[in-house]
Amino acid sequence: MNAPRGGSAVVVGGGIGGLATALALQGIGWTVTVLEGSASLGEAGAGMSLSPNALACLDALGVGEGARALGVPFHGPFDLRTPAGRRLVTARPGTPSPLLGFHRADLHGLLGEALTRSSVRTGVKVTGVHRDGGGVVVSSTAGELRADAVIGADGAHSTVRGSCWPESLPPRFTGGTVWRGIAAVPLERGFMVMGPGAYALAMPVARGRVYWAHVRRCARPGLRHEDERGAVLDRIEGWPADLRALVEATPPEAVLHHDVFDLAPLPDLARRRVALVGDAAHLMCPDLAQGAGQALEDAVVLARSLDATGDVDAALARYDSERRPRSQWVAAQARANARQNLSGGRAGHAALVATTALVPSSLWPRFAEAGLARLWGWRPPVRPERTTGG
Ligand SMILES: Cc1cc2nc3c(=O)[nH]c(=O)nc-3n(C[C@H](O)[C@H](O)[C@H](O)COP(=O)(O)OP(=O)(O)OC[C@H]3O[C@@H](n4cnc5c(N)ncnc54)[C@H](O)[C@@H]3O)c2cc1C
Repeated sequence: MNAPRGGSAVVVGGGIGGLATALALQGIGWTVTVLEGSASLGEAGAGMSLSPNALACLDALGVGEGARALGVPFHGPFDLRTPAGRRLVTARPGTPSPLLGFHRADLHGLLGEALTRSSVRTGVKVTGVHRDGGGVVVSSTAGELRADAVIGADGAHSTVRGSCWPESLPPRFTGGTVWRGIAAVPLERGFMVMGPGAYALAMPVARGRVYWAHVRRCARPGLRHEDERGAVLDRIEGWPADLRALVEATPPEAVLHHDVFDLAPLPDLARRRVALVGDAAHLMCPDLAQGAGQALEDAVVLARSLDATGDVDAALARYDSERRPRSQWVAAQARANARQNLSGGRAGHAALVATTALVPSSLWPRFAEAGLARLWGWRPPVRPERTTGG
């Protein structure tokens, strides 16, 4: 079935994946409506890092320059310590970092402001998706909306996935739990602390703020504390003072605590005029810092596929064949990383410390980048020649 060049899409979800997808579709002349269930657009108070593959997608979306102006180089993976403060790897001053750290709200705002020709409707919860002869119809708390394509960017517990992939399993608990916060404390350089069955990171973001996270193994999901900040401080007793200072400087009510889930691989990311992007498609462990990066890759590949042909289903099939292998490979790597980071007891931790210490600090950035080349070296496809579909 052919859609005219510049078809119509409903994007369900206004997170980073949804906004990036809307921006990418807007860029190929599509008319896009974003439906966001929350009363306003926004991201919770935490940070994230983006790697070169993700930054290349922001370039393709036309916001790379703005992102680089907002991002702060993150040296954490090249500046590793033990909880007792032993330095395993120290990045030399002046060493550039391929990673940039962001406050989530800054990144989200950047994408939102670039949506000049798309309509974003907040407070509209999507309840289901069905096809009829003429296309695909989204049901929501604000009524029905018809489009040439529907993109499910509605996160971990995606309604679009539930509606069109009814056999899919709910996200699975991965055995990790994470606390996060933003502190207004000066910190020149980011770092990471690797402990037995736990780790922490500190990442400077724009405007003198620092994002910190503490990830730990835990037996079951759902355990919460009246004082989450106190719970973190108890768990990092004796860890480096500059890390503890960040947690102490975070307002207690602003400390976020979530359990970590990922998604078993789906058999396909697109079905008859409906595609999934971001966490809805491949929710993954945060241990490779790639969830948003993969959502950005989805967005640019989806738009390039739709731009290449007027046949929506052929374009979505192409999107599936390009994105599924890579995003599921990345998710598997993230799961393996989480297992390695969190499952090690004292012996595993001692082995990690010993092997890390084998690589001289001066070689570590090159060593790490070589290991991550397949992940970080991905670049968006060049704009293809358009073929006529059908
Ligand atoms: C601890 C942690 C650290 C991370 N660090 C990094 C990092 O450093 N780098 C990185 O790249 N990634 C990181 N990630 C992953 C990244 O945060 C996610 O992959 C990314 O934010 C997913 O974006 P999304 O738009 O797909 O989903 P979401 O951000 O979940 O957005 C989904 C949106 O859909 C809306 N919605 C849901 N249901 C409906 C409905 N029925 N109707 C309408 N709207 C709906 C929601 O309100 C929400 O706004 C991290 C994740 C975690 C948990």
